[in-house]
Amino acid sequence: MVAAIFAAKNIGGYNIRIIEKNDKIGRKLLATGNGRCNMTNRFCHETFKNISKFMDQFNFQETINFFKKIGVITREESDGRIYPYSEQAVSVQQALKSELESLNVEIIYNAYVKKVETISNGFNIVTEINDKCKNSKRKDNIESFFSEKIIIATGGKAGPQYGSTGEGFNIARNFGHTIIKPIPSLTQITSSQLFFKELKGVRAKGSVSLLKNLELLDMEIGEIQFTDSGLSGICIFNLSRLIRLEDSSYNDYIVKIDLMPEFTQQQVFDLLVERAVYLGDRKVKEFLNGLINEKLACVILKESGLDENIINCYEIYQLNKKQLKKIVTYLKNWNIPVSGTKGFKEAQVTSGGIDLQQLDKYTLESKLIKDVYFAGEVVNVDGKCGGYNLQWAWTSGYITGNGASKNIE
Ligand SMILES: Cc1cc2nc3c(=O)[nH]c(=O)nc-3n(C[C@H](O)[C@H](O)[C@H](O)COP(=O)(O)OP(=O)(O)OC[C@H]3O[C@@H](n4cnc5c(N)ncnc54)[C@H](O)[C@@H]3O)c2cc1C
Repeated sequence: MVAAIFAAKNIGGYNIRIIEKNDKIGRKLLATGNGRCNMTNRFCHETFKNISKFMDQFNFQETINFFKKIGVITREESDGRIYPYSEQAVSVQQALKSELESLNVEIIYNAYVKKVETISNGFNIVTEINDKCKNSKRKDNIESFFSEKIIIATGGKAGPQYGSTGEGFNIARNFGHTIIKPIPSLTQITSSQLFFKELKGVRAKGSVSLLKNLELLDMEIGEIQFTDSGLSGICIFNLSRLIRLEDSSYNDYIVKIDLMPEFTQQQVFDLLVERAVYLGDRKVKEFLNGLINEKLACVILKESGLDENIINCYEIYQLNKKQLKKIVTYLKNWNIPVSGTKGFKEAQVTSGGIDLQQLDKYTLESKLIKDVYFAGEVVNVDGKCGGYNLQWAWTSGYITGNGASKNIE
């Protein structure tokens, strides 16, 4: 949508056609940021340091200005996250759609691009009518479109229910492009530990670290959400980006949870010793009440090796130092073995995609086939949660829209 807008500004919208397989344009946008659309982030430049040549051309400030001009003013929240002032993702989608309409860009709906053929003076784009489209006015099942230049912005494989099912990778592959293996990113991390069934719905603030073969890959602080099959929440999503299986198996990964990151191990131990004195006559099952979530407390006590009898019948003063130390270990260094991540359907982003090395480092034009450009998630660029992925979509849309419309009469 952004690519078409900038191209239309250069050469007029009547020269541009968007081919969209859904019956709506920008459908995924409606689901972004829990319906609020985290459009960009003040810290995009730092996050995308390795692709600053692209970011310099259209950064977060330019995004804000662009959207302001098409009617969406923004508001900044914590960690530099930027949202529409209306708090509605639909404002962003509607503003883009209206801009396309006022620039006279043609949009063909319910048309699924099946293949793109190179012909003498351009490309033949072969589309099939989308199966899900019941009310289409199109009579013929297959329709082809000619174009001198094409921008492929089909998204990756994440969130296929919104339209992105990875066909862009096949089209690129047919042009000879290398695809870095696409994997689901910004998604839940699963674990086969049985206690997760008891923890469904629990939320706790803490820090989470991802370790591979006991080596620290990254650490995040935030709200950890427990589900019946593992861990969720923004901090977990960000760690999920680093779980790759090319050279390893899920067994190599561990998520380490610290439920009390503001305290050192020694401070937590001292706190428990103190509590054991003034709460001494209460039952062990109440020991962690007021420190952590009740359901979590129950699991931590069990994981620390205390049996049902101790938990339900013993009084807190009866716990010995060794048992207190074990509880501290689980509060501060709780190792969760990873069994996998949720698949593309639940992922927000695809990590992997078209190798940037094969694209022009300023215009994103294919180095292999002239007049073919790639924008958005189909390219091997992805960021963490916070508005970074949409910023890449806007930036690459701006670059390819301008690039493809240059030198056209
Ligand atoms: C639930 C969810 C929440 C998210 N929240 C945020 C957020 O708050 N902030 C953020 O920065 N990022 C967020 N993201 C990520 C962000 O939405 C994507 O990175 C971004 O939309 C990618 O843009 P894109 O244009 O490359 O691809 P997409 O938005 O996936 O658009 C691709 C379009 O191409 C169409 N298409 C695909 N294949 C074909 C074909 N063969 N023929 C015709 N049309 C085709 C699709 O129907 C679709 O409309 C979220 C993602 C999800 C799933």
